[in-house]
Amino acid sequence: MVERLVVIGGDAAGMSAASQARKRRPADDLQIVAFERGRATSYSACGIPYWIAGTVKTEAELISRTPEQHRANGIDVRIRHEVVGIDLAGRSVQVRDLDAGRDFAEPFDSLVYATGSIPMRPPVEGIDAEGVYGVQVLDDGVALRAELDSGRVRRVVVVGGGYIGLEIAEACRIRDLEVTVVDRSATPVGTFDADIGGFIADAVTGLGIHLVLGDGVAAIETKDGRATAVVTASGRTLPADLVVLGLGVRPNVQLAVDAGIPLGPSGGIAVDRRMRTHVDGVWSAGDCVESVHRLSGQRMVVALGTHANKQGRVAGINLGGGYATFPGVIGTAVTKVCNLEVARTGLSEREAETAGYSYVTASVDSTTRAGYFPGAKPIRVKLLAERRSGRLLGAQIVGREGAAKRIDVFATAIWNEMSVDEILSLDLSYAPPFAPVWDPVLIAARKAFEAVEADVRA
Ligand SMILES: Cc1cc2nc3c(=O)[nH]c(=O)nc-3n(C[C@H](O)[C@H](O)[C@H](O)COP(=O)(O)OP(=O)(O)OC[C@H]3O[C@@H](n4cnc5c(N)ncnc54)[C@H](O)[C@@H]3O)c2cc1C
Repeated sequence: MVERLVVIGGDAAGMSAASQARKRRPADDLQIVAFERGRATSYSACGIPYWIAGTVKTEAELISRTPEQHRANGIDVRIRHEVVGIDLAGRSVQVRDLDAGRDFAEPFDSLVYATGSIPMRPPVEGIDAEGVYGVQVLDDGVALRAELDSGRVRRVVVVGGGYIGLEIAEACRIRDLEVTVVDRSATPVGTFDADIGGFIADAVTGLGIHLVLGDGVAAIETKDGRATAVVTASGRTLPADLVVLGLGVRPNVQLAVDAGIPLGPSGGIAVDRRMRTHVDGVWSAGDCVESVHRLSGQRMVVALGTHANKQGRVAGINLGGGYATFPGVIGTAVTKVCNLEVARTGLSEREAETAGYSYVTASVDSTTRAGYFPGAKPIRVKLLAERRSGRLLGAQIVGREGAAKRIDVFATAIWNEMSVDEILSLDLSYAPPFAPVWDPVLIAARKAFEAVEADVRA
């Protein structure tokens, strides 16, 4: 008998799952129907700020696989179709065709829940006013860009200085708009330690963006239903023609909750290593699920495309009759502000303390190429190593071109539970156009090793 797989959500996680399942099982064995409420499938939300800035020229370039391409691959994709209910006992989903305005039921044998996340909206007055934008899906980017293209917008206030907020702020600045970023923390991108965050703050202000730190949003003023200003907790009024929410995201789980699909302690959908939920035949992947942090052991929701693609692939392989697992996350992330690159992996100081680790830190300043080689740029590397064992717990990098991707060496080391001493011996590449003879990775490991030794002696 032909089985039927229904996928909710047509982007990274959902379509990776669908494509992998299709690769392993032909259509006469497994029918696959994917519902996507937006207009696009398999798009790069990560590219939205660069399209808004004009670095990426067209919206089409952000789409890696269109609905037509998926259909040609044997996946029945229905765009502008929103799943509005899941009946687990009856094994069907309730679907709304948004253009035709009609509802229908679609039966399933297996279900992949891949609805992504939704931008946080603080419960303040005016938050639902016109001109207040969260950016999560491509259609949000399209709507935001249309506002910016309208010529009506001169002043933009970004509420929340996370990496998405800063990327949008920079894009607006490139468009020559007056931009203010408001963030409650002492430095932007709170997942970095404050000493690294200070460099980010300097880069943001260096772009001509006003940065209001240590202050949050208290209300949004409106006129005729449209946002006109952001009022902060300290009482400042920041005039705005457009407000962008950059406060982070939460998993989009309401449909799952209503259906009785269990969540984990972090509020994401609880899944096992094969991406199975606690309901038989129901799988989940991407921003809506929780993952295990390999260092802290904590369950957490980490909304990153890198995980969504991998988790979707794992779900699809398993649905296709294979065997695959998602072994967890270690908090690796990278971004840039103007020409300042920042990256992190593992635990920050606060996270290490919360997880109960005792650690030493080491920071080094070096260059991305041999100091004498043209184009050598500054780089700072900060490491956290566990006391006594010297196990690498975290790394943060800030610098200019060529700096940030060095984080992947540390991510690999943390993944393999290496000590800073072991990293010091790694056979890393060297030639003057690429690195100093002691790569900043190695110098940082050496410094961290010395800090571990000094701590043992103390
Ligand atoms: C501006 C921006 C920049 C980013 N930059 C990076 C980056 O540099 N690196 C990185 O790793 N990650 C980045 N991310 C995060 C990354 O885009 C997400 O983690 C990734 O898209 C998650 O994939 P997903 O499939 O889980 O969810 P989504 O991509 O959100 O896809 C979920 C889909 O489900 C659809 N949907 C939801 N509910 C329903 C329903 N009821 N019925 C039908 N369809 C539904 C939505 O329309 C959406 O298309 C960025 C995100 C944004 C917004």
